[in-house]
Amino acid sequence: MTRQQADVIVIGGGFMGASAAFFLRQRGRSVILIERDLVGQQASGVNFGNVRRQGRFLPQLPLANRSREIWGRLDELIGEDAEFIPTGYLRLCYCKEQLGRLEQYAADAKAYDLDLEILGRNALKARFPFVGPEPIAAIYSPRDGHANPRLAAPAFGRAAARAGAQVFEQTEVLSITKAGEDFEVGCSDGRVFRSPAVLVTAGAWGNALSEQFGEPVPIVARGPQMAVTEPMPYAIEPVVGLATAKEKEVIYLRQVTRGNIVFGGGPRGPAHADIRRAYVLPQNTLGQLVQLQRLIPALGSLSIIRTWSGIEGYLPDDLPIMGPSAREPGLYYAFGFCGHGFQLGPGVGDVMAELIDRGETTTPIEPFSIARFASETAAPTHATSSVQAMETSPR
Ligand SMILES: Cc1cc2nc3c(=O)[nH]c(=O)nc-3n(C[C@H](O)[C@H](O)[C@H](O)COP(=O)(O)OP(=O)(O)OC[C@H]3O[C@@H](n4cnc5c(N)ncnc54)[C@H](O)[C@@H]3O)c2cc1C
Repeated sequence: MTRQQADVIVIGGGFMGASAAFFLRQRGRSVILIERDLVGQQASGVNFGNVRRQGRFLPQLPLANRSREIWGRLDELIGEDAEFIPTGYLRLCYCKEQLGRLEQYAADAKAYDLDLEILGRNALKARFPFVGPEPIAAIYSPRDGHANPRLAAPAFGRAAARAGAQVFEQTEVLSITKAGEDFEVGCSDGRVFRSPAVLVTAGAWGNALSEQFGEPVPIVARGPQMAVTEPMPYAIEPVVGLATAKEKEVIYLRQVTRGNIVFGGGPRGPAHADIRRAYVLPQNTLGQLVQLQRLIPALGSLSIIRTWSGIEGYLPDDLPIMGPSAREPGLYYAFGFCGHGFQLGPGVGDVMAELIDRGETTTPIEPFSIARFASETAAPTHATSSVQAMETSPR
């Protein structure tokens, strides 16, 4: 049995794990990153690609701002291009009640350095003529944008490896146990890794590891439904979405410079964390098409060339788990990003590296503490429980 050591072991090579490994190396910490599949293969690699701050839970904006700052210098930082384009993000609405909510959000967001413009019907039509007749107004965030999810997390993984992180793909962690002051991380191929600090960045599968330390969380796996059309002449620069309280109306889209329209929205589909499959329900795609055409009529005649989904972990309050374990010194979590972790990826890695390195972080993350689910606390099951045995049931 081989036994390798590092200052920190990061479990899960999605965007969060890959960026944390990179930023830990930047702080001079030795790192082992362990990924069951390939880096960025799960939610981080198949998402919509929205790099948006607007619309987030307000206390999450300092983290989103920190992330946005890194997105702006990503190429220089990691030496690769993830196709981040600050195109702006335009959120439309159909009714006065929703407009009132958007105006309130814009007013409140100012305290968090997020400047949003409210556009009335005339200004909206003059500036974005592709919008259909129904939207009455919009809220515009000029510094948001989009990036290519297929590129971002793997690029961070490669940058971490170039900086000296040991990256093990196709290696599944089965157990984390305490051995004196250290943790021992046991893998399916018999390898055991050892370190004084462990960061769990296992996405929708995070609970299988946190519950080994008596910290189960009520995470469920769901699959946002995505599709892409044939290309059309490039005309829609910003990411466009609808602000609505009605789930079936939810729609968001972006046009890539090659011309295709990528879109998502509406009810989420089934995702099975245990077999690592998320399915597209055809009726959801048909519903999305109705909403797409309602928002931008010119998109109504396009053919869909591909649909897909991915496995994302959702908590009941729609907020992630992020911060130190409430029970075990040296254990840290960053998982369950509830459908909005792509924009946060660089910031989460930076903040978790800071927290592990210095014992504190300058960016507030208390609202995301795992302690908020302490009533779910069960006896630790480490040494006996197996990740393979877990199942996150679809809701
Ligand atoms: C279809 C879709 C669209 C989305 N659109 C957006 C968007 O537009 N904007 C946005 O901000 N967010 C979006 N999201 C959310 C975003 O993609 C996620 O929040 C983010 O990628 C989560 O990153 P992660 O690293 O936590 O999880 P993941 O990318 O799922 O990575 C976790 C990794 O841990 C690994 N792992 C798990 N258990 C183990 C184990 N025992 N041993 C070893 N490895 C393990 C997994 O294999 C996986 O690679 C979307 C998500 C989906 C699914």
